[in-house]
Amino acid sequence: MEEKLLKKIETIKQSVEQMKIDDIQENPESAFEQFQCDCCGDTKAFAGSIIYKDFRLCNDCVLLAETGFALGKMNEIEDLIEKMEDKRFEVVYKSIFEPDKNNLN
Ligand SMILES: [Zn+2]
Repeated sequence: MEEKLLKKIETIKQSVEQMKIDDIQENPESAFEQFQCDCCGDTKAFAGSIIYKDFRLCNDCVLLAETGFALGKMNEIEDLIEKMEDKRFEVVYKSIFEPDKNNLN
């Protein structure tokens, strides 16, 4: 991959991580409050989450979204939501059929 591109991704990564840090600083509770991400379907901390249109994305998905936008891989947040459809299904499936596994973490 191009070095310029890698640098770009690194910058995005840092700014997305910073969002989470800022959120926790502003509201320490947000590190413990959880929600279900509209993109990956996982239960994640509120800290670092962002609302895109009608979707609230966790910090991990924000990184995916911002990287995808920056690299021109997608134009709309719906593109990512669509791509993650299988992942969401997997998460829901696991939460129903493998509840014990999820508690091991
Ligand atoms: Zn997510």
